[in-house]
Amino acid sequence: MRRRTSAVRSQVDAAFGRVVDDGRFVVGPSLEAFEQEFAAYCGVEYAVGVGSGTDALELALRAFGIGHGDEVITAANTCVPTVAAITCAGATPVLADVDPATRTLDPGAAAEAVTERTRAIIPVHLYGQCADMPSLMSLAAERSLIVIEDAAQAHGVEHGGMRAGSLGDAAAFSFYPTKNLGALGDGGAVVTRTQDIAARVRRLRSYGELSRYESIEEGRNSRLDDLQAEILRTQLPHLDGWNRRRRELASRYRDALADTGLRLPQDLGLGRHVYHLFVVETDDRVSFRRDLSAAGIGTLVHYPRAIHQHPAYCSLGSGVSLEVSERLAAQVVSLPLYAELTDDEADAVIAAVKDVVER
Ligand SMILES: *Cc1c(COP(=O)(O)O)cnc(C)c1O
Repeated sequence: MRRRTSAVRSQVDAAFGRVVDDGRFVVGPSLEAFEQEFAAYCGVEYAVGVGSGTDALELALRAFGIGHGDEVITAANTCVPTVAAITCAGATPVLADVDPATRTLDPGAAAEAVTERTRAIIPVHLYGQCADMPSLMSLAAERSLIVIEDAAQAHGVEHGGMRAGSLGDAAAFSFYPTKNLGALGDGGAVVTRTQDIAARVRRLRSYGELSRYESIEEGRNSRLDDLQAEILRTQLPHLDGWNRRRRELASRYRDALADTGLRLPQDLGLGRHVYHLFVVETDDRVSFRRDLSAAGIGTLVHYPRAIHQHPAYCSLGSGVSLEVSERLAAQVVSLPLYAELTDDEADAVIAAVKDVVER
């Protein structure tokens, strides 16, 4: 994180200065400019900046009129915010299992989870891998469901020449600092082609106001600050280059680690992976991580529990097989990968991993 911000430090300082000098900090010109630029980047007409990725999902659901009594299907191996957003909207999350190859929502499992109360599907482009959008969109068309992409880990991912954000009915992005496109604090956006949905998210993020001091529905306060928006504007032109570098590092890892017995992320032609994370699977995670740590290589686990394995959400696991998600929760390990990682550092990771697995 520190490496990324120091690389663009002077641009960040200048952006900060512009907003401070301008003096409009909330829903000002920087937010409007960023919304236009990010919408254009995603290949859609509208982007609406909100307070976080979680809020983006919640407000997108509410903008489609999804709430109490409605079921929303999502993947069991996501992080908690996806599910928290569904419950904050007042709807009921329904978990479905994932495809072991892509680690994203299995369209067959999603189809089985559909009931007469299902209103929407939230596929998660986990780790920067695009979910199987063609299959999910045709399921949604058959059953008249809304599809909202959770693109919090997938800024810039492409499928058939279209980017995340343009593949579903709407998409939610997070600009949490560690994401592929990150602010210097919390932030998020809803992107969509549909004017009415964008307008409604805009209302919902500002107390349901149609105009100043006239609330036509119950809303809340969830806006992307102009300071963050202006800083994001300075980062957006770097995003494709950063993603290219992530892919380059990932293919270096994939080539070098092919014979190690670790299960590696696959590039399946389901869209260009943007490697928010490089996640391998191992049967003996505890010793793998311990030995790497002893060799000076830090690893992380995304995520150690599937959703229904959290005490807060254990009721969501009943009556459904979530075996793949459970296995992944026990086996996944994220190796160091970010755009600023050097070739030498990547080679040191590779050497340490090989050494550890050959022991
Ligand atoms: C980060 C993340 C979110 C939530 O974003 P916040 O900005 O932290 O609220 C949602 N879904 C996924 C998959 C994420 O990685």
